[in-house]
Amino acid sequence: MRLRVLGCSGGIGGDRRTTSLALDHDVLIDAGSGVGNLSLEEMSHIRHIFITHSHLDHIAFIPMLLDSIFDVISTPIIIHGQAVTLAALRAHIFNNVIWPDFSVLPTADNPVFRYEEMAVGDVVEIDGRRISMLPVIHSVPAVGYYVESDAGAFAFSGDTSVNDILWSALNERPRLDFIIVETAFEDKDEALGKLAKHYTPQVLARDLKKLQHHPKIYITHNKPGVESIIAEECRQHIQGYDLNFLSGGETIAL
Ligand SMILES: [Zn+2]
Ligand SMILES: [Zn+2]
Repeated sequence: MRLRVLGCSGGIGGDRRTTSLALDHDVLIDAGSGVGNLSLEEMSHIRHIFITHSHLDHIAFIPMLLDSIFDVISTPIIIHGQAVTLAALRAHIFNNVIWPDFSVLPTADNPVFRYEEMAVGDVVEIDGRRISMLPVIHSVPAVGYYVESDAGAFAFSGDTSVNDILWSALNERPRLDFIIVETAFEDKDEALGKLAKHYTPQVLARDLKKLQHHPKIYITHNKPGVESIIAEECRQHIQGYDLNFLSGGETIAL
């Protein structure tokens, strides 16, 4: 498996792109502005998009991705997500006001994309990669994903804050080589983190004690402009781990 980081910032500005991870050549996990880093040719190979939640920084480029490649794909792209997340896309994005309803265009029988509901714990297998949905806690219904193949396993938290459910779900899995976990805010913004349901370095460090695996850690989704403060605070609080900071453009191989 090869995971390419298309976007991993909590915002935009300069070369920052919002969350999107490309798993091999055909699967996206979230589709924020990082999707714009793909060439047209690369976009045309995308067959599945797994969405963590409905916030714009994670879905903003789905409409433009579809519009850029609709005439070169022959089978629908499948958008996977919780029912409530897909309902939000239907109501607020593909509603023929913000964007055309590509789930019935050009024809209802062979549209550009189709929705596929998934619930926490469900597993979708695509060419030897098993992708399952993980529970998390965020300000809107949200999930993370666990991806495993014969080569190894990793997890992506999506957006989350303090919780027990993500960590116990991971503890039930046999293997965890690395985890990509969000840390949106610096320690001084803990109150804001509580409100917006995002981690700060200290809060994440406390939650990591619930994890029984000892994976390599990649921090993601930093607030733009304070990345170096968040990194320094993570180094202070999270010790004894192989700690890394995800950067746009990097590729992680398993
Ligand atoms: Zn969010
Ligand atoms: Zn986000």
